[in-house]
Amino acid sequence: MVTIPLDRLDELLANNKDEYIEQLFTLLRQKSISTQNVGITECANLLKSMMDDLGIKTQIMQTNGHPVVYGEMINDEKFFTLLIYGHYDVQPVEPLDEWKFPPFEPTIYDGRIYGRGAGDNTGQLMAQLLGVNTYIGLFGDLPINIKFLFEGEEELGSPNLAAFVKENKELLKANLVYTLDVLLVVDQDPMDIFNKIYKHVQKHDPDIEVTYISSMEPSRTSADLEIVKVVANAVRTSFKQEPLIQPSLGSSLPDYVWTKILEVPSIIMPYANFDQRNHSPNENLRIDYFLNGIKCTCHVIDALGKQKNVQKFLF
Ligand SMILES: [Zn+2]
Repeated sequence: MVTIPLDRLDELLANNKDEYIEQLFTLLRQKSISTQNVGITECANLLKSMMDDLGIKTQIMQTNGHPVVYGEMINDEKFFTLLIYGHYDVQPVEPLDEWKFPPFEPTIYDGRIYGRGAGDNTGQLMAQLLGVNTYIGLFGDLPINIKFLFEGEEELGSPNLAAFVKENKELLKANLVYTLDVLLVVDQDPMDIFNKIYKHVQKHDPDIEVTYISSMEPSRTSADLEIVKVVANAVRTSFKQEPLIQPSLGSSLPDYVWTKILEVPSIIMPYANFDQRNHSPNENLRIDYFLNGIKCTCHVIDALGKQKNVQKFLF
């Protein structure tokens, strides 16, 4: 089989850019405000049909609250299995008069996509789906298995996620959970930030070890895992920047659900710009970040697919 090198990615992305943005717009136009119970069912149905169209076997699964949209692409039980987590619900839009553009009519302005959910989390969720789609477009097939769990209650604090994961543990079994998040300040110089943190910690307690990983290190995912290096490399390649590797960082994300209940390592990687204004009027996503996110997903899939010995590389 002739494979297309990943260098061809840029070309493919340039060709598909308009179509990809249009797909994102379709999802952004659908309201899904969990705290006000507006448009949730409609959004779950729309997301399911879009995932079906991408060739992902998808189902809507009920919880005690808003439904989960679950999808999978299983190639071979022996392959590495990646679980991608995201959410399709968004924050309310008030105060409406502070928006430059209507929140559910996505608009491009100055290289950014404006709309509720552009950064948190619809744009990043679509970057993952389209990354998978792009990879298949390049290579014809995936070298790993991928499961997708998109919940509709993240903006409510994920009240039913832990129970859902407990009930469906076998179904969700994976080697790594990959979450998209919004916390990193990507536009700042990563080394500079790291050095400042490092010096600060050294001053107060030289015994504390400050480590670089590719994303924040949550509860029980060790930065020493080979898998963290693999993902860091993928991030470096796609964003052409040294990844900002955070020592532990506070987060409202339900990360313990993965590390403690599902008992798998978890990596959190933000695809959105730091000034995305999530939860605020004029939420936006830089188009170049959206495309880099798609690219990053392709590199992560590629890197994970090259790991022959799954167990060794996790522990
Ligand atoms: Zn949020």
